[in-house]
Amino acid sequence: MTQDYRPDTLGVRAGGLRSDFGEHSESLVLTASFVFASAAEAARRFANEEPGNIYSRFTNPTVSMFQSRLAALEGAPSCVATATGMAAVATTALGLLSAGDHVVAARGVFGTVVPLLNQILGRFGVETTWVPASDLDAWRAALRPRTRLLFAETPSNPVCEIVDISGLAAIARDAGAVLAIDNCMCSPALQRPIALGADLVVHSATKYLDGQGRVLGGAIAGRADLVEGPLFNFVRTAGPALSPFNAWVCLKGMETLRLRVEAQSACALELARWLEAHPKIERVNFPGLESHPQHALAMRQQSAGGPVLSFVVRGGREAAWRVVDGTQLLSITANFGDTKSTICHPASTTHGRLPVAEREAAGVVEGLLRVAAGLEDAGDIREDLERGLAAA
Ligand SMILES: *Cc1c(COP(=O)(O)O)cnc(C)c1O
Repeated sequence: MTQDYRPDTLGVRAGGLRSDFGEHSESLVLTASFVFASAAEAARRFANEEPGNIYSRFTNPTVSMFQSRLAALEGAPSCVATATGMAAVATTALGLLSAGDHVVAARGVFGTVVPLLNQILGRFGVETTWVPASDLDAWRAALRPRTRLLFAETPSNPVCEIVDISGLAAIARDAGAVLAIDNCMCSPALQRPIALGADLVVHSATKYLDGQGRVLGGAIAGRADLVEGPLFNFVRTAGPALSPFNAWVCLKGMETLRLRVEAQSACALELARWLEAHPKIERVNFPGLESHPQHALAMRQQSAGGPVLSFVVRGGREAAWRVVDGTQLLSITANFGDTKSTICHPASTTHGRLPVAEREAAGVVEGLLRVAAGLEDAGDIREDLERGLAAA
């Protein structure tokens, strides 16, 4: 089925399994284990001689539906679900890498990825080189004979730097390395990295797949030899599995994914244009604006600018905090991907643990604010930001 239908149909229908009860809505199979008809059947299942569910750490129908639907939306042959987005990144690294292997990763990836690779993977003899995301020559120069994994996020959070996915895919291919792209910010509604040559797409389902800020989840979609081999084996053995309940929430979230993300992206563009002309704003980072240095590239690989933007308020941290505190509608929270619009000051929250020089080099300056557009009326969001800016 998944090959024949267009994305909107896949988002609603792909992967659906129906039990003997004939339920219309996908069922939530909340069980730790599954029963067998006989000792012999149990033995056959465990020996992989016949398909069927065994134990929800690695086989659960609701989780399977989630995996099939995300694979269909990403145009990927396979998908494995994980408990969180960070579990997806950790599974990618620990499933693919061995002591002595080398990783090249984009500076400006999701903050927690940095200690995961530097400190935890570093303890096991895996070394990571960090490069400026948009500089393909720097990626090429960083390669070593044992480079096994290239890891990037595009657009990056919070400064919206764009990585040329097909350019990076060519570099990965020549190096014999795996290219993994974190597709949280756009979701498959706006960008499909597999079609551009990525081997794996990494997700925090916590963001737009759930879409309403309720649960944590993650997934890796992509090449069957990797996903069904070392990545599935890592999840089965180490246990960072997605709960069936969270899978069910995200599965139902995917049915409205494109409608939500396109509406949020249109709202973000409207806000970005308005902010760009505002006298208290120094700079707006949004790939949908013609003024974004990589606007043309972004519009080649994304169908819209995305739901997240950031901007620099004149007056540094003090002014930025006044804007945050002057808003009444926007939620002051570090999450994004919700129907409720959110605002945060990255330099003192999500990026607060980075050394100042590193933070500033990544564009996370003291006046920077990140806003993720929700589904409230765009006029109300703009008036709320105006209220904040009046206080700055
Ligand atoms: C949130 C996020 C993650 C981590 O996801 P969790 O579900 O919070 O573990 C990874 N990458 C990006 C881009 C994110 O925004």
